[in-house]
Amino acid sequence: MGKIKAIRGMNDILPQDTPVWQYLEKQVEAVLGRYGYQQIRLPIVEQTGLFKRSIGEVTDIVEKEMYTFEDRNGESLTLRPEGTAGCVRACEEYGLLYNQTQRLWYCGPMFRYERPQKGRYRQFHQVGVETFGMVGPDIDAELILLSARLWKNLGILDHVRLELNSLGSAQARSNYKERLVEFLAQHESELDEDSQRRLQSNPLRILDSKDKNTQAILAGAPDFLDYLDEESKVHFEQLKDYLDDAGVKYRVNPRLVRGLDYYCKTVFEWITADLGAQGTICAGGRYDGLVEQLGGRPTPAVGFAMGVERLVLMLQTLQSVPEGYGRIADVYLVAAGQAEQSRALQIAEWLRDELVDVSIQINCGGGSFKSQFKRADKSGARYAIVIGEEELASDSVTVKPLRGEGEQLRVRRDQLITYMRSLLIV
Ligand code: ATP
Ligand code: MG
Repeated sequence: MGKIKAIRGMNDILPQDTPVWQYLEKQVEAVLGRYGYQQIRLPIVEQTGLFKRSIGEVTDIVEKEMYTFEDRNGESLTLRPEGTAGCVRACEEYGLLYNQTQRLWYCGPMFRYERPQKGRYRQFHQVGVETFGMVGPDIDAELILLSARLWKNLGILDHVRLELNSLGSAQARSNYKERLVEFLAQHESELDEDSQRRLQSNPLRILDSKDKNTQAILAGAPDFLDYLDEESKVHFEQLKDYLDDAGVKYRVNPRLVRGLDYYCKTVFEWITADLGAQGTICAGGRYDGLVEQLGGRPTPAVGFAMGVERLVLMLQTLQSVPEGYGRIADVYLVAAGQAEQSRALQIAEWLRDELVDVSIQINCGGGSFKSQFKRADKSGARYAIVIGEEELASDSVTVKPLRGEGEQLRVRRDQLITYMRSLLIV
């Protein structure tokens, strides 16, 4: 019998890669904390109806990407394809939207049955940021500034660009939809298959088609910005003013629509040219109608989601994770025999008590000095602490630089902390 393998498109994140993830997660948490956002933790499984009602029946996600199954009691459940719906569900369920504003974030796996390729997987991770109860474009601007700060802190700001659009009110969208269908109907036979089907069911999504031919036809389509309602227009203008004043560069892209039905007014994407076709690293917008659509009171809302895998790929490509990040240990202890190992265990514990920010790994499982030093090297440690027969007898250790930093030195035990501190904590 063959070995069991992971599911296609569902990746293990191996120890060699987790430092990038941890680095990213730390930066994300720090930035969100500095803007006063609170974390919310949500279940991975929800009732299927939640996603059908929020994302929309005629979307890629609901039509063909959801992992839906029947629970043992016959209830239809779905592995979440995105986080906004569950976040709204939880906020409503616990009254978090009643007479108050919320700034929330979450992080975790999402599931979509898509064709796996670079930057596109079946289990992938998003950091989602959602805000509720704030009606004006100031909060839209805050979200964009927050994401821009994150790119800056991650060292990728120069590699991403911001695209903006407004989808207007439901009425404006429906007016525009009519004109768009009129226009596209004249070119029906030239459209790609998906777009032909969408002409009836969800024509706005055609704007997002990746098909070259369809894109060419769309170049002559009526411009949505001409159909914007007055309120949305003012909102959009004000948002652009805020961004101009804050020095954020953007491009208005009238073709920018999102793959989910619940968006209105502001939509935006951060895009990079460094990842090929899967260039959108962060996408979001306003969804003022969603809370009500899911049974709550009308509540303005705006949020975005980042694709963690795509950000990780970027950090790896641009090598923007700080040098030494993810080093297994700073110090590696090497011991000659059993009595020396006992001393090494004591010294390692003592160093961990005293040097709280230093990571210390001890060789376990014996081995010659040569093989122990090989492991020391692999750990990335800057220094080895060696305990041989002589060191044991003289109550000292030998501190050996592993990366060409200074001289090897015999150090008495009572001077070791001071000495290590001078080496490691400048
Ligand atoms: P795309 O156009 O790339 O399919 P989307 O519009 O479906 O993206 P959203 O639902 O808005 O994406 O999700 C927000 C972000 O999550 C995307 O911008 C992307 O970075 C990431 N993302 C979405 N789907 C996947 C996936 N299958 N694998 C990896 N990341 C993904
Ligand atoms: Mg998609």
